[in-house]
Amino acid sequence: MASNIKRIGVLTSGGDAPGMNAAVRAVVRACIYYDIEVFGIYKGYDGLINGNIEQLFVRSVSNILSRGGTFLLSARSQEFRTKAGRKKAFENFKSHNLDALVVVGGDGSFTGADIFSQEFDVPVIGVPGTIDNDLAGTDFTIGFDTACNTAREAIDKIRDTASSHERLFFVEVMGRDTGFIAVNSAIGGGAVAMIVPEHNWTLEKLIRRLQKGASNQKASNIVVVAEGCQLGNAYDIAGQVKERLDYFDIRVTVLGHLQRGGSPTTMDRVLASRLGVAAVEGLKQGQSKVMVGIINNQIAYTNIHEAVKTEKRLDSEEFRVAKILSI
Ligand code: ATP
Repeated sequence: MASNIKRIGVLTSGGDAPGMNAAVRAVVRACIYYDIEVFGIYKGYDGLINGNIEQLFVRSVSNILSRGGTFLLSARSQEFRTKAGRKKAFENFKSHNLDALVVVGGDGSFTGADIFSQEFDVPVIGVPGTIDNDLAGTDFTIGFDTACNTAREAIDKIRDTASSHERLFFVEVMGRDTGFIAVNSAIGGGAVAMIVPEHNWTLEKLIRRLQKGASNQKASNIVVVAEGCQLGNAYDIAGQVKERLDYFDIRVTVLGHLQRGGSPTTMDRVLASRLGVAAVEGLKQGQSKVMVGIINNQIAYTNIHEAVKTEKRLDSEEFRVAKILSI
């Protein structure tokens, strides 16, 4: 069912992710390609509430493809969580004669988009922009590949000092609820173990793995810890290991916000470009309340509620591979 969409608003919301700019660029250029006017909404939902909205043109998005962060700025809007806030947002949406909204963000942003769309019957489409990769309905989210590369690069550097001093390092990466960054950076960085929120890894298992390495003359050890894991944070786990295996010289590095920044990788730029174009094409075809993703290299539209609510599971095959290679 084709729609009659003439003006689209686009915003970035929640935690910033490398590749958000590439996604906005793709939305803007696809709109212009299809003769649709496009408006940038600044500071996420706060911008919609406050009318911080301006028209974007082809050249408005020049030279942003390679830049991290988001030129539209992002926000965690408390006001949008209230009905009164969303009503103000809708009034601005109407006063700018917008027909549809593209939201680039994570699960929280999509929950807000879903509620807004239902309350005011506004066509919305979500573009998954989050380093966490925690959204069902797409194999990868925008920013995830860059964050994994950043974490893996840091692990490579830590490896140099770890092996020079025969140390055991605990490296904490982002992932309050999911271990996608931990798993990928750990396998890519040759870590001896990875500890993630989804798995109930015991201290005993970790101790056994480290002891096995020590008996095999393993010179340096890196354990990657996702910040939200059940055993505690990297400092807690390091302390517990030190009590049991006092022969290890242990250090801890917390990577923190540097994982959010930086120029997006080619993979993230291509993903963001494809999803941005598909978001506009989806709206033209009458899609609404969906998230656009890529599954098995094909564009896929998934009900936005399902994309948020369905748990995206870690691949057990990756754990098997990591275990085999950790000896
Ligand atoms: P990331 O995964 O990177 O943290 P996110 O999109 O999940 O990104 P959140 O801070 O959870 O980030 O959500 C972004 C914004 O979406 C919130 O600040 C709020 O404005 C809106 N939002 C989230 N949940 C709701 C909700 N239940 N109702 C209305 N708005 C919401």
